[in-house]
Amino acid sequence: MSLIVQKFGGSSVADAESIKRVAKRIVDTRKAGNDVVVVVSAMGDSTDELLDLAHEVAPIPAPRELDMLLTAGERISMALLAMAIKSMGYDALSFTGSQAGMITDARHGSARIVDVTPGRIRDALDGGAVAIVAGFQGFNRDTMDITTLGRGGSDTTAVALAAALAADICEIYTDVDGVFTADPRVVPQARKLDRISSEEMLELAAGGAKVLYIRAVEYARRHGVTLHVRSSFNNNQGTIVYNTEFVDPNGEIVEEPIIAGIAADLSEAKITVVGVPDVPGKAAQIFKIVAGANANVDMIVQNVSGVATGVTDISFTLPKSEGQQTLTALTNDKELVGFSSLQYDDQIGKLTLVGGGMRTNTGVSAKLFEALFLAGINIEMISTSEIRISVVTRADTIQEALRVVHTAFGLDTDDEAVVHGGTGR
Ligand code: ADP
Ligand code: ASP
Ligand code: MG
Repeated sequence: MSLIVQKFGGSSVADAESIKRVAKRIVDTRKAGNDVVVVVSAMGDSTDELLDLAHEVAPIPAPRELDMLLTAGERISMALLAMAIKSMGYDALSFTGSQAGMITDARHGSARIVDVTPGRIRDALDGGAVAIVAGFQGFNRDTMDITTLGRGGSDTTAVALAAALAADICEIYTDVDGVFTADPRVVPQARKLDRISSEEMLELAAGGAKVLYIRAVEYARRHGVTLHVRSSFNNNQGTIVYNTEFVDPNGEIVEEPIIAGIAADLSEAKITVVGVPDVPGKAAQIFKIVAGANANVDMIVQNVSGVATGVTDISFTLPKSEGQQTLTALTNDKELVGFSSLQYDDQIGKLTLVGGGMRTNTGVSAKLFEALFLAGINIEMISTSEIRISVVTRADTIQEALRVVHTAFGLDTDDEAVVHGGTGR
């Protein structure tokens, strides 16, 4: 008998019919003799709808109350799913995040899991029930308040429970057949990967591939949880996210492909600090201010200073949501740093190419830049790591960029990828 954690995303439980379909799938797993823990997201786009509602009543909703509101979404789907399973003659019990023992820090909207105490989940399993847990939510012991784990955080709930319960596998059910070489909504010729290393998946998630939440991949990597990303709409084998080198049945290590996939991100903005005196200590000063504004800086570029002027420009990217607070903090210290002005650009897009094989293959960046050049797409910033290259372009060219780069690296297939549900919101 195995212990299986199954997570169903919003598009898989979007309406009553879908909930019944998912219930049947869970019952089938149970019938096969497995213990099943289910993590469920809010129905369809209901988290976005609750968020819109919050902004209609308050321009900046109070973080504690916003978490209270958003966690209601998962509560609805967990209870409905438990009812559906029970009506099929199987026992099921639903639990909120705090009942399931998801203990977090106190950061509303982006809380981190600090402990998992799934006593009630174990009891439910021992009693023969399917345990259904509300994803994306936790509880802080100091404030005694409800928290949320960040958008997409149900993935993290599933991984954390799988780790705490030493589950045999953590299955992430979604509206596409697995992890593809690019978002199949944008690149229909994208190819489904049978497997991907957690290291590559981490880079793809960081690059904007929302099929898995970055923190869930990090958590899985740290705790040795194997993930299986697959469709809740069919029984096809999906994508295995593995933690060490993949070993095939004959015991041989399979070499990683040069390119695993491409991701795009439209959620960042670029700030340029213009006319920074080119003397030691200025970058330190600027990024201390930026850190003080709680901004998560991604790429940084410093121009070569003009010999005549002795000043330089420093540009960096950060989430759009942190743009305003960062501009304010920098403006407050303008005299101290001695720069001349600030520019803010929120019309940028970032394309990220990921592949473990980049370590041992040269010419990958040349091929990327050539493909973008041939499509007439200008590159504004570049950053690289061992297994990743990211470039910033204009936001309105990013989809075209994804498609031409996908083709240039020979990733296209002849079949069109199927997107089973969801709105892509
Ligand atoms: P869920 O509601 O199940 O959590 P998400 O909407 O969070 O689902 O994630 C699934 C979506 O991720 C897909 O519908 C797809 O559009 C998008 N996506 C982006 N990049 C990829 C990729 N490389 N492979 C598969 N899906 C991707
Ligand atoms: N419902 C939450 C969201 O939409 C969490 C999740 O779906 O993973 O972000
Ligand atoms: Mg998701």
